[in-house]
Amino acid sequence: MNLILMGLPGAGKGTQAEKIVEKYGIPHISTGDMFRSAIKDGTELGKKAKSFMDQGELVPDEVTIGIVRERLGKDDCQKGFLLDGFPRTIAQAEALENLLKDMGTSINNVLHIKVPTEKLVDRLTGRRICLKCGATYHVEFNPPKVEGKCDNDGADLIQRDDDKPETVKNRLEVNISQAQPLLDFYDSKGYLVTINGDQDINQVFEDIEAELGGRSL
Ligand code: ADP
Ligand code: ADP
Repeated sequence: MNLILMGLPGAGKGTQAEKIVEKYGIPHISTGDMFRSAIKDGTELGKKAKSFMDQGELVPDEVTIGIVRERLGKDDCQKGFLLDGFPRTIAQAEALENLLKDMGTSINNVLHIKVPTEKLVDRLTGRRICLKCGATYHVEFNPPKVEGKCDNDGADLIQRDDDKPETVKNRLEVNISQAQPLLDFYDSKGYLVTINGDQDINQVFEDIEAELGGRSL
């Protein structure tokens, strides 16, 4: 079960990824999470990624493709994986095709979570995350049980630097201009499925389950 989640920042990829991983038992591979954890740990990768991320710009392809290649080579990806936030450029999509070919496998589904752009700013500026387990909350739409604390592990929730209002606008613009060619790329291969992300979180997941359930896994 090799899946890709697509959608603009704030569409709900991370939120749905948590549910998909829980139900289907495949690893969640989020390039954004990998970069954030590298920054937190002060690694070389983190240093390379930070200046781009702070501006809401994409990290260069060679860096991003390198970390995904390494991650997909791990044992837990043998039975499948869920990619979130990758690929974001045609060069990354082509590199992924080659990588999977070498592994003797291919993509099964590309789930595109679609939400009207004007709703995304509120979703992003209200987002809070747990750096410890990666869980995602929203101050209004999906609050934790105890304000500011993660339901899973009680760790403090933080606001991502790039979710501050001044970065959000640039990030959305960068992503909107990059998204369409990728959607066209996967549509032309027959992988693309569009999911209405402008619904209650559980309803979005039911639609994803209906899509995946109807396919051979
Ligand atoms: P992405 O990974 O696509 O950037 P997230 O899953 O982090 O998006 O969601 C962005 C924000 O919107 C989070 O604060 C999340 O709690 C909230 N959110 C996610 N899905 C929904 C939904 N269906 N309705 C309302 N808010 C949502
Ligand atoms: P979002 O919640 O906005 O979908 P992510 O967590 O996926 O954000 O990504 C945060 C940032 O990490 C991006 O703005 C970008 O700087 C960097 N990044 C993540 N994935 C990629 C990628 N595939 N290519 C280039 N940069 C990436």
